[in-house]
Amino acid sequence: MTERKPLALVTGGSRGIGAAISKRLATDGFHVAVNFSSNEEKARAVVDGIIAAGGSAELCGFSVADSAQVEARIGALAKERGPLAVLVNNAGITVDGLLIRMKDEDLRKTLSVDLEGAIFCTREAAKSMMRARTGSIIQIGSVVGESGNAGQAAYAAAKSGLIGFSKAVAKELASRQVRVNVVAPGFIQTDMTGTLNDAQKQAILSTIPVGYLGEPEDIAAIVSFLASASSRYITGQVIGVNGGMYM
Ligand code: NAP
Repeated sequence: MTERKPLALVTGGSRGIGAAISKRLATDGFHVAVNFSSNEEKARAVVDGIIAAGGSAELCGFSVADSAQVEARIGALAKERGPLAVLVNNAGITVDGLLIRMKDEDLRKTLSVDLEGAIFCTREAAKSMMRARTGSIIQIGSVVGESGNAGQAAYAAAKSGLIGFSKAVAKELASRQVRVNVVAPGFIQTDMTGTLNDAQKQAILSTIPVGYLGEPEDIAAIVSFLASASSRYITGQVIGVNGGMYM
């Protein structure tokens, strides 16, 4: 009988950083559930690419901001293929603008996807991990959660909130050998940063000591390490991957 691959769920796996993480974890030997909220076609291309490369993956569509969907889909996943060995809370959005002009709707949307979404998914995944007495939960935060950034008050609040949340949960789950860490990227080339104009990109580059934007694979590499037993003694940490932008 062939051995079952350990299960990893990557939220927002259809594009950018999440797609790179999904591919990397599949290469590492996980069966990867690739989550998306609206972009099924792109998520399917990620799944197909993994399978074509000899890996194992499935589509898993739901909005992380909807707690009922999160409970149902992660619960079913854990039952069918579980327990979850790895959860990567990568799904994220940013609605930028100065605070005094920001609408309630945009504030709530950002907090709802970036912070509540990660909390909902962590809460559900933790159940099967606790039972299995092993697991790694990896939150994709952001450099701005520690440094702050004008025009990103809600996003920074969400990403900063993820740090406190993760440290609290790391303490709750440590005795069950479930680890919780935050990876905090700097500026990475994806759709999210693709909307920046050249002047904005130049201004950002001048703040990055290594002198270039990161690639999604730079984030996938540290996630791969945190998902592996090589990081078994690391929990409750925030690991910056930002070219020296914030030290
Ligand atoms: P991206 O290219 O814009 O992709 C965002 C992903 O999140 C997509 O897969 C999207 O799914 C998914 N998503 C959005 N709302 C969702 C929801 N409600 N439920 C489930 N999935 C949802 O973003 P990225 O640049 O790869 O960023 C990934 C993560 O890294 C985010 O948490 C972001 O805050 C963080 N980060 C990025 C940077 C950067 O420079 N790029 C820097 C620091 C931190 P659909 O395709 O279905 O829309």
